[in-house]
Amino acid sequence: LIESNRLTLIKLRSHLLACLRVVQREGKTVGLIPTMGALHQGHLSLVKRSLSENDLTVCTIFINPAQFNDPRDLQRYPRTLGKDLGLLTREGCQLVFAPAEQEVYLDETDYSFELGESGEVMEAAHRPGHFKGVVNVVKRFFDLIQPSKAYFGQKDFQQCAIIKKMCLHYQIPVQLEFCPTKRESDGLAMSSRNILLSPEERAKAPLIFKALTEAARNSSSLDPAGIKAQLEKTISASPGFSLDYFEIVDADSLQPVNSWDDAQNIVACIAVQLGKVRLIDNMILRSSA
Ligand code: AMP
Repeated sequence: LIESNRLTLIKLRSHLLACLRVVQREGKTVGLIPTMGALHQGHLSLVKRSLSENDLTVCTIFINPAQFNDPRDLQRYPRTLGKDLGLLTREGCQLVFAPAEQEVYLDETDYSFELGESGEVMEAAHRPGHFKGVVNVVKRFFDLIQPSKAYFGQKDFQQCAIIKKMCLHYQIPVQLEFCPTKRESDGLAMSSRNILLSPEERAKAPLIFKALTEAARNSSSLDPAGIKAQLEKTISASPGFSLDYFEIVDADSLQPVNSWDDAQNIVACIAVQLGKVRLIDNMILRSSA
């Protein structure tokens, strides 16, 4: 059913289940990379990692309407399936699952659960219902595919925390792998949304990474409030940008810290609106590892 040296595209869950039954019978390990397509080197870094750690790598391409709180964002979201398949073929990915919506949402079960404090801040506060949508789709993919390992990018730092919580909540036996953020040469975090930026906006976008780098540099002399004030000033002085939030948080609880002694692991998370495009990024400021 699946040949290890070529890419198989599957659109129906019945076909996917038939393929996976064979794979599971053979005792093979499965690595899963859930994506919304418009693939770039960030996604492909997760695919590469999975290929090196599993017998079979499954990449899902599904623009999940349930996680979009803004209908215009969903409408504008880039769709480049042909190009994505070319990139995955070149990487050596074995299986792509690109289902229609009704293949994913067979029933109306709501898998969302009480996310607690990490589900109230930052992205959760600015994108109501977003993580409920994420949990509902990732839970469905985990149930369907039953991967040994699943790969997520640290660019979506809060998403990683929510997925971790979900696996504990539902006792899902998957090993989660959180992978570093891939950046363009000017520092801009790779994102499917970057292609929606105008050339002028694209030229300005590296400011996000510059501001985070400056925050990290100054975190030896300033306290979190000082860093926040400085970054807010930088962004508000930059035409075209509007700051959604900038938070310096405990990397585990995602709650804001007042002092560098408040947590062992501290991350700075930012979301900006640049023209019509919303971009997020983050940087670890303190790490015990
Ligand atoms: P998306 O298609 O945006 O839903 O992303 C699919 C997966 O790729 C998520 O786990 C993202 O965190 C991850 N990802 C997106 N951008 C990057 C990046 N620049 N570097 C590493 N991983 C990324």
